[in-house]
Amino acid sequence: MTAQNTYDVIVIGGGISGLSAAKLLKEKGLSPVVLEARDRVGGRTFTVQNEQTKYVDLGGAYVGPTQNRILRLAKECGVKTYKVNEEERLVHYVKGKSYPFKGSFPPMWNPFALMDYNNLWRKMDEMGSEIPREAPWRAPHAEEWDKMTMKQLFDKICWTSSARRFATLFVNVNVTSEPHEVSALWFLWYVKQCGGTMRIFSTTNGGQERKFLGGSSQISECMAKELGERVKMESPVYKIDQTGDMVEVETLNKETYKAKYVIVATPPGLNLKMHFNPELPPLRNQLIHRVPMGSVIKCIVYYRENFWRKKGYCGTMVIEEEEAPIGLTLDDTKPDGTVPAIMGTNPQPNTSTNPQPNTSTNPQPSLSQPVHYEEKNWCEEEYSGGCYTAYFPPGILTQYGKVLREPVGRLYFAGTETATEWSGYMEGAVQAGERAAREVMCVMGRIPRSQIWQTEPESVEVPALPFVTTFWERNLPSVGGFINFLGVASILSVATAAGMLAYQKGLFTRS
Ligand SMILES: Cc1cc2nc3c(=O)[nH]c(=O)nc-3n(C[C@H](O)[C@H](O)[C@H](O)COP(=O)(O)OP(=O)(O)OC[C@H]3O[C@@H](n4cnc5c(N)ncnc54)[C@H](O)[C@@H]3O)c2cc1C
Repeated sequence: MTAQNTYDVIVIGGGISGLSAAKLLKEKGLSPVVLEARDRVGGRTFTVQNEQTKYVDLGGAYVGPTQNRILRLAKECGVKTYKVNEEERLVHYVKGKSYPFKGSFPPMWNPFALMDYNNLWRKMDEMGSEIPREAPWRAPHAEEWDKMTMKQLFDKICWTSSARRFATLFVNVNVTSEPHEVSALWFLWYVKQCGGTMRIFSTTNGGQERKFLGGSSQISECMAKELGERVKMESPVYKIDQTGDMVEVETLNKETYKAKYVIVATPPGLNLKMHFNPELPPLRNQLIHRVPMGSVIKCIVYYRENFWRKKGYCGTMVIEEEEAPIGLTLDDTKPDGTVPAIMGTNPQPNTSTNPQPNTSTNPQPSLSQPVHYEEKNWCEEEYSGGCYTAYFPPGILTQYGKVLREPVGRLYFAGTETATEWSGYMEGAVQAGERAAREVMCVMGRIPRSQIWQTEPESVEVPALPFVTTFWERNLPSVGGFINFLGVASILSVATAAGMLAYQKGLFTRS
């Protein structure tokens, strides 16, 4: 620091992305400062401690194989991971009935549904394979797919209502928005940059495999501790002036900071709260008006005992019910078996989820009666704007996507939304923060351009296993293809026989 409030780099936002940018800059001998609007660091991660829960993650929580950067940071901070319980059977709850199953996706009994599901996952992964992670707008069919919503794509490729219903749930759970809201190009890119349909949705070997012992906020707190006085809480930035020799940044509490460069590490839409001088270029200005955040309430229900395990269920429920506020649950019991709990996310913030803990005078509630409840509605958070992440409605990615990471003068952009691997997740936040820090180091002449993007070695503790597809998964026709091939008259008998036989032989299990 050369003079009061003067730094090499100002980082706006003390979430995982901003903190990992500042951490790297400091490690490389530069002088960063982090300006954070809230009275805490961590942003969209938020671990709360209390007597009833010990600790609970009300924001981002799950990590898994291929998320090597966040796993590296956790290890550096001495934060261990544990596996989310998936030992016993999962439950597929559909039309009021429960169907136990094992594996990542529920099996299908109806041969048409089976072909339809198989084609749905295969198609999404195939389309995703055409989309470049770092530039989805350059995909060969970018324009066509970006004009379409996921609902329109599902209507086109799904023949059965059960596949369409499950596809809807897949969008709801992964990006807390509706298929009619999101661009097909954006959603297909999103799934692809997480490693495909299996990696994004699975618990074992997927994005939900693990949690951090003690909660995810520890990682931000650890980075903030290392940065010490360089992290300024309760400092919402509202003004960025690039007209002078140094960039000047003002906070609501009337502090002025100066630096050579600025890294903006907030969700893009929140930049609407900031005044830029000179004004943002037209594409950037329009981009930040057009990328809304998803909507989610995270809920955790606590019980006296994890009775579900005793009955042979792991706590995962995939819920397909129009009126159900929750689409997916996971066991949230602590790894030592204490504090039995089930976690669910509600992507419909107008629908109440609260199961009302037992308040009767009966001192011994039944095992399945909740004893405590935690929730957090991220839609009311001024400095998040919603969660988990920003989504792209149709038409926006191809028109404005290319300026997502493009610097504006001396402003550089981080935040999970700007990542190319696990964007939307904690992993993406780290990738983006460190990339933005290296962009600044590059422009300062400290590293060559070729070092801006770096790959991450695989975590030793959390290795990724490949997902192997079966012959049938690769070659089973879609319902449409099957109809064309056989002719409508013979469909029922042949499809039923082939589907049942293949199912009995276990050929359709995705593992
Ligand atoms: C309910 C929920 C569940 C999730 N589940 C998972 C999960 O299981 N796994 C996973 O990996 N991810 C999950 N996520 C997403 C994950 O939490 C985020 O992707 C990640 O934390 C984003 O980090 P970030 O630093 O990019 O952004 P943020 O965490 O949003 O950080 C931005 C920071 O900028 C600050 N800020 C905003 N405006 C200003 C301003 N004007 N001036 C100064 N500071 C400002 C904010 O206060 C915030 O601290 C979940 C999120 C939620 C909410």
